[in-house]
Amino acid sequence: MTESAAGGLKTAVVCGGAGFLGSHLCDRLVADHRVICIDNFHTGRRRNVAHLSSRECLVLLEHDIVEPLSLAGENIDRIYNLASPASPVHYQSDPLRTVKTNVLGVLNLLELARHHNARFFQASTSEVYGDPLEHPQRESYWGNVNPVGVRSCYDEGKRCAETIVYDYRRQHDLEVRTVRIFNTYGPRMLADDGRVVSNFIVQALAGRDLTVYGQGTQTRSFCYVSDLIEGMVRCMEQEEFSEPINLGNPIEFTVSDLARQVIRLTGSASKLTYGALPEDDPKRRLPDITLAQRHLNWEPAVPLEDGLCRTVAWFREAGQA
Ligand code: NAD
Ligand code: UDP
Repeated sequence: MTESAAGGLKTAVVCGGAGFLGSHLCDRLVADHRVICIDNFHTGRRRNVAHLSSRECLVLLEHDIVEPLSLAGENIDRIYNLASPASPVHYQSDPLRTVKTNVLGVLNLLELARHHNARFFQASTSEVYGDPLEHPQRESYWGNVNPVGVRSCYDEGKRCAETIVYDYRRQHDLEVRTVRIFNTYGPRMLADDGRVVSNFIVQALAGRDLTVYGQGTQTRSFCYVSDLIEGMVRCMEQEEFSEPINLGNPIEFTVSDLARQVIRLTGSASKLTYGALPEDDPKRRLPDITLAQRHLNWEPAVPLEDGLCRTVAWFREAGQA
């Protein structure tokens, strides 16, 4: 499965490999791949992969994917593209950079894949469904996205990235895989990246009130990182299905439910405070994972309470650093 055409270990490039999900993917791939991790350290951190690069399990290259790259002299079998800011706070802080990463960056990586005849994996997002009018969201749903709103640099950037990926398949016969990732959490999230799980845990551990936006009735489903990485690798390595596949936890929680769980699991005395709901914040989000069950034999195994306990433990130890 992980042998290259020449018979040695497959070489995998992980773009965005120093980020939250990318670093967990690198941890997984080094067991049976040569791994080249590419990152510009915009939201990623060298420390996330330092344990791999120092043992020479992985080659770490600083590069912004908005610029072309050739990796001449390498034989690349797999390219995973996770390079993009993912938290609303980060992707909205420099929206043009977000668009460039998701459009020009994806074009550059697809050219790299074409040059090496490598299989290409695109980390897409539930945000392609926008503020969905269908519930739960199936892959066949085309979405409800505000094309000129504050989230559109990311939503439309990722939608355009999917377009480019499937045009490369149509026009150049490139092998492609795409997963649409729903909210995922776990160790190595940045303490200050503004996402709800990290915000609530950091606030609860510090004894500060938890900042619920709106009434807290909006919903999300929360997938633990190890489950997601398993689904990503299964998607890349299965041979039959190249259309986009949802990966996420099919259990829906309100944001207030999540806040109360975090307070309970941390034993914090924090209370909830209520603030303004961000513009275009999706009201309900829940994946239909029938395709992932059928084609990848995948579904999440880690219940929210277990995943939150592991994440809280990590933030207590390392996450505030
Ligand atoms: P992250 O911000 O931790 O990781 C993104 C990584 O990409 C960082 O290491 C960052 O430095 C790097 N990067 C950004 N722009 C780059 C550029 N131009 N060139 C090179 N590197 C660049 O976020 P994450 O949560 O690990 O998300 C990884 C991917 O998964 C993203 O593409 C994101 O859109 C997607 N995703 C994540 C979630 C989630 O819940 N975590 C949900 C949906 C989609
Ligand atoms: N949210 C919140 N308090 C916070 C951070 C986020 O209530 O401190 C809400 C946010 O408005 C959204 C949900 O939690 O409804 C998930 O937000 P996140 O930024 O994690 O991801 P999104 O799914 O919006 O991309």
